Amino acid sequence: MMQQYLRIKAEHPDVLVLYRMGDFYELFFDDAVKASRLLGITLTTRGQSAGNPIRMAGVPYHALEQYLAKLVKMGESAVICEQVGEVTNKGPVERKVTRIITPGTITDAALLSDARDTSVLALHQREGGIGLAWLTLSSGRFRIKEITAASLSAELARIAPAEVILTDADAQSLPLPAGTAIKRVTELDFDHHAAERELTRQFQTRDLAGFGCAGLHLGVCAAGALLAYVRHTQQSALPHVTGLSVEREDEFIRMDAATRRNLELTETLRGDPAPTLASVLDRTVTSMGARLMRHWLHHPLTDREIIEGRLEVVAALAAPAAKLFQTIQGVLAQWVDIERVTTRIALRTARPRDLSGLRDTLARLPELEAILAQEACAAGGPQLARLRDRLAPRSALHALLAASLKDEPAVVLREGGVIRDGLDAELDELRAMQGNAGAFLLALEARERGRTGIANLRVEFNKVHGFYIEVTQGQLDKVPDDYRRRQTLKNAERFITPELKAFEDKALSAGERALAREKFLYEALLDRLLADVPGLHDLAAAAAELDTLAGFSAASVSLGLTRPVFTAEDRIEIRSGRHLVVEQQVGNFIANDTDLSRSKQLLLITGPNMGGKSTYMRQVAQIVLLAHTGAFVPCEYSQIGPVDQIFTRIGSADDLAGGRSTFMVEMTEAANILHNATARSLVLIDEIGRGTSTFDGLALAYAIARHLAEVTRSYSLFATHYFELTRLQAELPNLANVHLDAVEHRDRIVFLHKLEAGPANQSYGLQVAALAGVPKAVIRAARRHLAELEELGAPQGPQADLFAQPAAAKPAEHRVLQALSDIDPDDLSPKEALETLYMLKRAAGDSAR
Ligand code: ADP
Repeated sequence: MMQQYLRIKAEHPDVLVLYRMGDFYELFFDDAVKASRLLGITLTTRGQSAGNPIRMAGVPYHALEQYLAKLVKMGESAVICEQVGEVTNKGPVERKVTRIITPGTITDAALLSDARDTSVLALHQREGGIGLAWLTLSSGRFRIKEITAASLSAELARIAPAEVILTDADAQSLPLPAGTAIKRVTELDFDHHAAERELTRQFQTRDLAGFGCAGLHLGVCAAGALLAYVRHTQQSALPHVTGLSVEREDEFIRMDAATRRNLELTETLRGDPAPTLASVLDRTVTSMGARLMRHWLHHPLTDREIIEGRLEVVAALAAPAAKLFQTIQGVLAQWVDIERVTTRIALRTARPRDLSGLRDTLARLPELEAILAQEACAAGGPQLARLRDRLAPRSALHALLAASLKDEPAVVLREGGVIRDGLDAELDELRAMQGNAGAFLLALEARERGRTGIANLRVEFNKVHGFYIEVTQGQLDKVPDDYRRRQTLKNAERFITPELKAFEDKALSAGERALAREKFLYEALLDRLLADVPGLHDLAAAAAELDTLAGFSAASVSLGLTRPVFTAEDRIEIRSGRHLVVEQQVGNFIANDTDLSRSKQLLLITGPNMGGKSTYMRQVAQIVLLAHTGAFVPCEYSQIGPVDQIFTRIGSADDLAGGRSTFMVEMTEAANILHNATARSLVLIDEIGRGTSTFDGLALAYAIARHLAEVTRSYSLFATHYFELTRLQAELPNLANVHLDAVEHRDRIVFLHKLEAGPANQSYGLQVAALAGVPKAVIRAARRHLAELEELGAPQGPQADLFAQPAAAKPAEHRVLQALSDIDPDDLSPKEALETLYMLKRAAGDSAR
């Protein structure tokens, strides 16, 4: 038994092997230690191996799925070995690997999260470029792309794979987020020739030209490695993976990892699913829709034609006259997860209830067709018309399923009771044989009572002993000669007769043969369904889309959203914008306007802590993002010009795991923005420079704001507590000061949350501190110290210098002129002259030496 185990373990050295022994799945050696730590199961020892006791740990067979779900959540993979041979006295039972479970390739209903797609990603780096290929196994969506190393973390945050396949070298050198489940493979697995062979065999094409990926050498390498790995884990040819698509660089509004996190799209900063933009907006009624909606939030589109198509549908479904979204949701709410059922059909793991659920869903397609044929749907435009076509009834397929399956099939095939009566004559006959047993036994009992004169004689059946005739102790003398003793009980004897034996053989074998026949018919049904897999996946995709759009309509009604207007002009105008999540949490949300354009590109936002600066900035980003998913947005009116990227630099914690301090994180994010933002990027900066000394911080904030206004010329919202920066307005015509105010009211502070023009005039820091419960004595001491500081007058030192502004000259020019007039060239040695020249360059603000 152990030899068999070790042989299997050697083939799966880096994953947990769960080995079926009787009622348990056992783990041995290091696997046992690891599993007991991860799952909290008891570690024991047994027997000896090489002189040491064998460590083992096990989980009961009926709880397997629960434990697997836990392991997968922790990013672990597992191999399940079942007993496949007969139990005999000779040697161990044969065992085989029947399932390989990995975090990125699960398709079991019990292990997958309903609300999220699970995907697996392969990546391969060579000479600075990285090829990416990723697959959502449960939908068959397979995409590739090539990127530079610099955008890896943004892409990982977007794709959010549950598992990453890469070489050891790449695993060492590339920065993967902590906790990523990794599958290490060799360089050979990324061989380009092998990849082409794998992919063309999978898609049954001569070459890859039709997929537009001929030039993507590294992407193809990654796709080949990915496919080979997933085929191996599924032990299947993956018939539903029929093609791959190349993702264009400009297909989506780009966001880096920090931005996705900061905007709390689908996860709060703490990692919870609510309250987030997704949790507030989600009105979908199927899990297919819930997943797609979340996917769209992470993939705002740049193609306005598609966006307008979606908006048209949302508007039509939300129209108050018909409230079509409600009717549509009423139908969709009954639907099963067609996408995942279809994948299980393709992988031949679909259970009877999967198929009956699919049947019942298909039965509702005509109902949906009737709704979508209504006059009012015409307003949904071509996009809705296309969805209607894709959601057309599948009557032949429905008829096949309806004819094949019982109304309520058994949960598992092995118990029978799945295939409908009347489908197959042979099955019907076998079932009839079983069904008639009751009548036969009653007749036999009556006959035998008459023949023997034993009035209480009974003919019965049990699973262990089969059929028997039971005679009580007192009547034994009346038993005829042809009765054979089968079993002796305390008060009775059990017998069998040749006639009963013959019946038993027939009945038992009929039961077994009926089960075998059902299994055969079920497999044949799965075979026939295979041809429908692509069509069903498209149906699922259309259903997900309709559900998402109807959900957007529902949200626009209940949350008061409006249709965004897109313009070719460079501007972002929002009237009475709101923050969808904060709005749910406060009683009285104050809406605010935004107007960004070429002439007013950077809003410098000041105001007290808790004034609403972060909320305001995030609401602008969320509105812009939402508009590009095709959803309505929380404001009275909005007009949005072309946007290519969204960046945020919003308060951060130390990235201790990544070994970076707060300041380092802050500067890394700022560097990323300054390098990559364009005039069409939306940039949110919420406090920069706090992680260092006041003057350093102020100087950096100053330089960064200038760069955004003058060089990248991005749409920028720049919140800061450095009031000194508000003076920038005098120098930069495209910068405007705005502020959020508060008022003191009987020793209390009241935040107005209303965005006003101009800089703030007070910081209210002490009031906020008092509000937070800082002891009164400390607040009083702070007040005294503040008064002293204010008495000293304007800030001194480098900060004052930086902002000293004589007449019209910019500060740097002024300093340079001053220095120049102080120089007497005849007094300088050649070396001093050179040094002075460097100094002047520095003073002029040119740091490049
Ligand atoms: P700041 O960034 O200026 O410190 P926040 O944006 O974090 O302030 O806002 C602090 C709190 O004020 C929020 O948690 C919310 O409760 C409330 N708030 C913010 N903006 C508004 C608003 N427009 N209307 C009502 N309440 C608001």
